[in-house]
Amino acid sequence: MVYYRDLPSYLIETFGEKLYKLSFDGGFSCPNRDGAIGTRGCIFCAGGSGDFAEPVRPAAQTQEAYEAALNAAVERAKRRVAKKSSCERYIFYFQSFTGTYGDINKLRLLYTAAVSHPVCAVLSVATRPDCLPEEVLSLLSELNRVKPVWIELGLQTLKEETAAYIRRGYPLSIFEDAMARLKTAGIPVIVHQILGLPGESKEDMMETSRYIGKSGASGIKLQLLHVLSGTDLATDYENGLFKTLSLEQYIDILSACVSVLPDDMVIHRLTGDGSKDKLLAPLWSADKKRVLGAIQQVLLPKRPAGKV
Ligand code: SF4
Repeated sequence: MVYYRDLPSYLIETFGEKLYKLSFDGGFSCPNRDGAIGTRGCIFCAGGSGDFAEPVRPAAQTQEAYEAALNAAVERAKRRVAKKSSCERYIFYFQSFTGTYGDINKLRLLYTAAVSHPVCAVLSVATRPDCLPEEVLSLLSELNRVKPVWIELGLQTLKEETAAYIRRGYPLSIFEDAMARLKTAGIPVIVHQILGLPGESKEDMMETSRYIGKSGASGIKLQLLHVLSGTDLATDYENGLFKTLSLEQYIDILSACVSVLPDDMVIHRLTGDGSKDKLLAPLWSADKKRVLGAIQQVLLPKRPAGKV
């Protein structure tokens, strides 16, 4: 059995309640899609991971308009999670595309509206390490003094060969530079890793987890590689260029990766939330109940006192 530092315990300990996440789409693009770095995006990306994100579309470039648009999105997002959540405050998660890629004035209006919202406990922004210029970092530090701000970075792999195959679009040195600057700014970082990328062995994936564990990140999201229709990854899959993991392989690799992380690293995700409509493989991953049941056979949350 492998024990891990789970997110719900961390949230209860830190915020006094198990905060749920409200996911938003701030209307961003991505430099890996708009031509600044690339036009086809990461090989697995079917549209910026924003399938369940509520759009925030202000009618004008004013603080009032951003607040009104966000209020409406918050109400819609709350209805989405109403069945499973009874909490009064939430993590505002700007999930779609690259959440710091845009005009600084727009970022300021949007994220000021977020941290000012009464039910926002944490502002969490998913972005790329090459989209964190100094003016953005300084805005994030400012906001972090109002409400906690988290940054999520999709590293996915340590292996440069795999990074080139998936068209991540930046070298490791850019990630390391962003981590150092975020640390100086006092902003916690959650790093994403994908398990099951083509050409990677179990040891490669453990090496990535070890690296993330030492990178200064406070949390990690571990996610199974999903092959989604319409992506270039789907073409390679259909041409037989690689195989996806079985549930048994995934659990084995997942527990090995978790076992090399520091004890205090918070694990934000052990599976993945892909769109079922677009999922081509592995199909077993759509049965969330079965997957969670299998994970619980080998991985257990370690409660705050260090005891189960
Ligand atoms: S950085 Fe994110 S949004 Fe951009 S192409 Fe890659 S996965 Fe998609």
